Amino acid sequence: MDMQTSLLDRLFDAGLLIETGVDGLYGRSGVFEDVISRFEGLISAYGGAEGAEMIRFPPGMNRAHFETSGYMKSFPQLAGTVHSFCGCELDHMNLLKCIDEGGDWTKTQEATDIALTPAACYPLYPTIAKRGPLPPEGGLYDLQSYCFRHEPSTDPDRQQMFRMREYVRIGTQEAVTEFRQTWMDRGVKMMESVGLDVEIDVANDPFFGRAGKMLANNQRDQNLKFELLIPVNSAAKPTACMSFNYHQDAFGAKWGLAFAGGETCHTACVGWGLERIALALFVRHGLDPKAWPANVRKTLWG
Ligand code: 5GP
Ligand code: ZN
Repeated sequence: MDMQTSLLDRLFDAGLLIETGVDGLYGRSGVFEDVISRFEGLISAYGGAEGAEMIRFPPGMNRAHFETSGYMKSFPQLAGTVHSFCGCELDHMNLLKCIDEGGDWTKTQEATDIALTPAACYPLYPTIAKRGPLPPEGGLYDLQSYCFRHEPSTDPDRQQMFRMREYVRIGTQEAVTEFRQTWMDRGVKMMESVGLDVEIDVANDPFFGRAGKMLANNQRDQNLKFELLIPVNSAAKPTACMSFNYHQDAFGAKWGLAFAGGETCHTACVGWGLERIALALFVRHGLDPKAWPANVRKTLWG
């Protein structure tokens, strides 16, 4: 049995994750959820004073916005779309027959107007653009969403449906880059306060194909993405539990995010992978939170 399967099995055995029969798709126990909600409380304690506007989108987004975002250009391998039965009664009879015969009934499903949200901030940009020009100080938003990425794996820190908390800053280049730096510093402090060893490193998104290699290299060369890494499954290959992304004015230009004078806004987002952080805590301190070190318990539970 390899290390990865054994961590997943330990989590199943402890009842923290609940098997569904699909790799990367799990139920979570009350204990697991409590850790996530306490950690979210810690995030809010660090970021709450800045008056971010809280918005919660569902885990599906407007497919037209998903298309405009260019996700299919960069990450077609990860995307998920929602399809439904849209036929008549005869189609329904054929559908049931096909299921009965063990055929592929999904072939006749048709695309709906909904795509699965790939990152918590994707539905935000068109929403803010629709409101019109931003004030000179820009905007700050607090988001959380289940996200979907089609990457089945038996590694429990790679899940197909997982939650991402994000703060997003829209504003001038200066404001946005300062926001990102502030959260890189806070991210390290926050993780240390719950007893996790961290390092921050430059990173890239998993752009698809040969052209994607170039995009990934550009992203790294320009320091556009950093990740906060914590050992979960392996000390040698720590897991990205937070990311700090500077989009320059790319999203501003794409969505028409601009100040009243017409100048395009810059954007940055900082994201927490909530399941990954919970897993990092369970691996570091043990599978029973009641037995975690007193200082960690105090930070999370007060
Ligand atoms: P990014 O948009 O940078 O890829 O993802 C933001 C954060 O979501 C990451 O830093 C990570 O913590 C979390 N994340 C990304 N992919 C996965 C995944 O496959 N499973 C889980 N549980 N979290 C992920
Ligand atoms: Zn984001």
